[in-house]
Amino acid sequence: MIVLGAGPAGLVLANLLLDQGIDCVVLERADRAHIESRARAGFLAAATVRILERHGLAAGLRLRGKVHGTCEFRTEEARFRLDYSTLGSGDTHVVYPQQELVRDLLERFLSAGGQIRFGVEATEVRDADGDRPAVHVREPDGRTARWQGRYVAGCDGRHGAARRSLPSGSAVRRHIDHRVSWLGLLAEAPPSLDAVGYAVHGRGFAGHMARTDTVTRYYLQVARGTPADSWSDERIWDELDLRMGAKEHGPLTRGRIVERAVVDLESDVLDPLRHGRLLLAGDAGALISPSAAKGANLAVLEAELLGRALGDALLRGTEEGLDAYSARCLAHVWRAQEFSRWMIELLHAPSDWHGLPVGTRDPDTPCGAAGESLFLDALRRSRLASLAVSRRQQDWFAERYVGL
Ligand code: FAD
Repeated sequence: MIVLGAGPAGLVLANLLLDQGIDCVVLERADRAHIESRARAGFLAAATVRILERHGLAAGLRLRGKVHGTCEFRTEEARFRLDYSTLGSGDTHVVYPQQELVRDLLERFLSAGGQIRFGVEATEVRDADGDRPAVHVREPDGRTARWQGRYVAGCDGRHGAARRSLPSGSAVRRHIDHRVSWLGLLAEAPPSLDAVGYAVHGRGFAGHMARTDTVTRYYLQVARGTPADSWSDERIWDELDLRMGAKEHGPLTRGRIVERAVVDLESDVLDPLRHGRLLLAGDAGALISPSAAKGANLAVLEAELLGRALGDALLRGTEEGLDAYSARCLAHVWRAQEFSRWMIELLHAPSDWHGLPVGTRDPDTPCGAAGESLFLDALRRSRLASLAVSRRQQDWFAERYVGL
C-alpha cells in the first residue's frame, strides 16, 4: 500500500493502516523539518478530535491544545460575541497548530515501525485500473524510480501527482474562484482576544485567530495580485487596528510578522474521489477555502473513512467500503463547502469593492457596479444583524461552524 503525502490526511491514514497490520510506505516530497514546521490550520473541530482520540492519535493535542468556544464579530458600528459552546450542538474547537499535529502523527507512525521516505516526489500514478498500480517518483538524488502496491492513496494535496494522474474524463471537477484574497500572517505576539475575531469592515475583512500563547494568526483581505511582501509590518498593524476597531474595542498586541502569504480563496472538488485503485483524500480530492477552517478537519475525516475501507478490502476481501468511499466523503465535503461559501459572503466586501461608493440618490440614474456593490454590502450586513439577535440563526451557525 502506497500513501502519497505526509500531511494530516496521509499521516492519519498511514497510522490507521499500520494499526491494522497493513504494510504501507509514505512517500513525501518535502523533508522532515519542512513538514514539521509548515504553519497552516489550527482549529480542530470536536468531531476531528474524537476521530484522533478513537485511534490513539490525540495525546499531544489533549496536552497542549486549547479548548475554544467563542467568536466575536465586529463592524464599524458595533460588535457581538457568540459563545458557540452553548449553541447548536454545544461542541467546541481545540486550537492546536497543524505542524504540531503533523509532528505527533509522524512520531507515532515512526515509533510503531512505519516506513516513510522524505524528499521523494511522486511524478505520476500509472495503471490505477489494474491490480498493481505504480507510482513513478523522483528520488532525492534526482534519479527516477517506481513503486508498486495494491492501492495508492493520493494524499498529496492540491498540486500533487495523484489528481494530475487521473485520466481525462474520469472525474467531474467543480471549481470556484471566490474572487477574494487574504494576506495570511503569523505574528510573534500573544492573542489579543480570547475569541476568534471577524471584522466586517468597509475596507475589507480582517481576522484574528489564536494559535499559541506567543503566536497569533491574522488575516487581511487584500486586492487580488497584491504581492505578500508589499506591506510593511507597520502598515499591516495599522490596517488591522483600523479594521478591527482597536480604538473602540482595545489594542491589538503587536509583534514581529514572522510569516506572510497571499491566499486566493478557491474551492475545487473532484467527483468521484476514486479511480480504480487510486483513492484521493484531503486537499488532493477536495480543496476548500480556509474561510471556515474546515480543510484539515475534512482531511482527517476522509482518512478515517479510507483507512476503514482499505482495511476491509485488504484484510477481508470486500470492496464495498471503497465503492461507497467517494459518496460518503463528498456528502461531508459539500456540507462544509456550503458553509464556507456562506462565511465568505458574510465576511467579505464584494470582489470589486474599493471602499464605500457614493452610489446614486436619483432613482432614475443607472448606478451600475457601484450600486451592485452597495446592494451586496447591505445584504451581508443584514445577514450579520440577524446572526446577532436570532437564537435560531446562532444555533444554525454554531452547528455548522464547529461541525463536520
Ligand atoms: P497537505 O497538508 O497539503 O499535505 C500534502 C503533503 O503532500 C505535503 O506534505 C506535500 O509536501 C506532499 N506532496 C505534495 N506533492 C507531492 C508529490 N508529488 N509527491 C509526494 N508528496 C507530495 N484547515 C482547517 O481545518 N482549519 C484551519 O484553521 C485552517 N487554516 C488554514 C490556513 C491557511 C493559511 C491555509 C493555507 C490552509 C488552512 N487550512 C485550515 C486548510 C488545511 O491546512 C489543509 O486543508 C490541510 O493541510 C489538508 O491536508 P492534506 O493532508 O490533504 O494536504
